Amino acid sequence: MIIAKTAEEIELMRESALIVSKTLGMLASEVKPGITTLKLDALAETFIRDHGAVPGFLGLYDFPNSLCMSPNAQVVHGIPNDTPLIEGDIISIDCGALKNGFYGDHAYTFAIGQVTAEIQKLLEVTKESLYVGIRQFKAGNRTGDVGYAIQKFTEDHGYGVVRELVGHGLGRKMHEDPEMPNYGKRGRGKKFIEGMVVAIEPMTNMGTRRIKQLKDGWTILTADGKPSAHFEHNVALVNGKPELLSTFKYVYDALGIESDEEAEFRSAD
Ligand code: MG
Ligand code: MG
Repeated sequence: MIIAKTAEEIELMRESALIVSKTLGMLASEVKPGITTLKLDALAETFIRDHGAVPGFLGLYDFPNSLCMSPNAQVVHGIPNDTPLIEGDIISIDCGALKNGFYGDHAYTFAIGQVTAEIQKLLEVTKESLYVGIRQFKAGNRTGDVGYAIQKFTEDHGYGVVRELVGHGLGRKMHEDPEMPNYGKRGRGKKFIEGMVVAIEPMTNMGTRRIKQLKDGWTILTADGKPSAHFEHNVALVNGKPELLSTFKYVYDALGIESDEEAEFRSAD
């Protein structure tokens, strides 16, 4: 069952989402060659607690850390470790925070130093597919409309859309109804309702959409060993339109990137 949130609850969810946004922004300055994902995880946990929240992933389904850190061919759910990142890597950092009883959950894939043009393109297309999907999160539409839009855009670029892992409703639980697949058919799936909040999160493989799982029981990686990217926003349905609760602004501030990509998803007031 989809749980609609009140305006007050949506403001609390914005607060949780923004703690994650700021955590990603803090990490953006630290994600460099030589740093380990365990070190980044420790920085994030301290930062989240300093902002009066609790890491949303730590202990969730027994996950051992605060961040899911998925480099290169890892898709999602990678576990932080003591291997230093190196120039040319990419890393998906997925972060959750719990405050006032509500979760924030969003993700960004960072380039470590200079990456190849091919990988840069994967990052750009995956992030753009996120906004292509968010545009379809509106009154009258269904989960299949979002999934269709992301799948079409992604496959038109020749990339693989991961099927086994999906976006989700978000609220007092990290994973609520509905599931938000990154593939689908127009007009199919659950109908959107005013006040609902979702995490939309395309996971895009440069090659095959097929995946496998490591023996650690968590890490998902591409079956062909090619890179995979992942971007995630938290979005509320307000006045029939998608409104972003999370933002990449802090990441862009840290990286010196100018962008107005989120402007169309802000409320007018
Ligand atoms: Mg996430
Ligand atoms: Mg999520």
